[in-house]
Amino acid sequence: MTDLSTIPSAAMQALPGMPRGEPTSMVDTLGRPLHDLRISVTDRCNLRCTYCMPREVFDRNHVFLPRAELLSFEEIARLAGSFVALGVHKIRLTGGEPLLRRNLEQLVATLAGLHTPSGKPVEITLTTNGVLLSRQAQALKDAGLARVSVSLDGLTDEIFSRMSDSAVPVSTVLDGIAAAQRAGFAPVKVNMVVKRGVNDHEIIPMAEHFRNSGVVLRFIEYMDVGNTNGWRMDEVVTAKEILEQLAARYPICQVDPNYIGEVAERWCYADGGGEIGVIASITQAFCQTCTRARLSTDGKLYTCLFAGNGMDLRAPLRGGATDQELTALIAERWQRRTDRYSELRQAATQPLTSATPGKKIEMSYIGG
Ligand code: SAM
Ligand code: SF4
Ligand code: SF4
Repeated sequence: MTDLSTIPSAAMQALPGMPRGEPTSMVDTLGRPLHDLRISVTDRCNLRCTYCMPREVFDRNHVFLPRAELLSFEEIARLAGSFVALGVHKIRLTGGEPLLRRNLEQLVATLAGLHTPSGKPVEITLTTNGVLLSRQAQALKDAGLARVSVSLDGLTDEIFSRMSDSAVPVSTVLDGIAAAQRAGFAPVKVNMVVKRGVNDHEIIPMAEHFRNSGVVLRFIEYMDVGNTNGWRMDEVVTAKEILEQLAARYPICQVDPNYIGEVAERWCYADGGGEIGVIASITQAFCQTCTRARLSTDGKLYTCLFAGNGMDLRAPLRGGATDQELTALIAERWQRRTDRYSELRQAATQPLTSATPGKKIEMSYIGG
């Protein structure tokens, strides 16, 4: 097991051009520091979005993790402390649907009490489908949640139901967004995954709905995550196409990123109607500035969204490892990190988009 003192001090500095972090930031093999941690608090969900948890796979017979396999809040907090010691200053709670995890605000309160080595509070954020948000928004805000992103892929019940494969009405999610705004989250971000032929005609109605509302709407290119969504390149509506649609309707101008490595490209309405964003994970890979680690519901560390294997942190945690030993394990793994899946996929999909549109890309070609 690596001792923290063996991490070379040169590796504990952010490289030029990378987001400036804590002085203790250590870097991976491509010079990327560890700044963000996404924690999945449950593998369950109350929706069945076709691009994420298709019902054919996540049906009644699907076996979700038994309770004993989930990290407890105490375990999550201990691991989070180790990540923070290594440079993490933003933690995003996600899932599955994180609001299904009972008493989530208690976890938020604990995590919001973490401080970086230089004494800054860690920023805690949440991504939710919004279905249960209206009754939890205030408690989450009071617990110290800094920001919330809500996923919503359409404004009509028909399209929302096609995307989420559920009978939940859109108004439930809109109520959740409104409750988050009332609780003082500003701005609330709304994420819309765009799938060609399913909800791409909702781009302008969504923009129109959220213009002048204080909500930042962000369009996300449909990604090939997992092995179950039957992803095809020809179903991806590219950020370029999305921006062309928006620009044909509204004068828009590009806005500087908030920080180097921000995944969304920022735009605003020239008439002051607010901000919009595009997340071009397929066509403009941002691996070079990817500073995110992911902790699965059962305590595995993944250093890429597309990684096949995670490193088990739960076993050492439950086996009595000290905080320093856990920190050293995480550091050692991060320093070996080579992931740049989207970059490699982009190189592979480029010829297909232009030369043979609609042809199904071979996952084996891009390494699954
Ligand atoms: N259930 C929560 C939600 O939907 O916001 C949190 C978990 S969900 C996996 C996190 C985000 O991933 C959502 O914004 C969702 O739209 C996005 N997502 C899931 N599958 C995706 C895919 N295949 N392509 C692009 N985005 C995807
Ligand atoms: Fe559930 Fe979120 Fe996945 Fe939709 S995107 S199935 S809401 S986890
Ligand atoms: Fe980061 Fe992996 Fe996504 Fe690249 S593909 S941006 S390394 S999570």
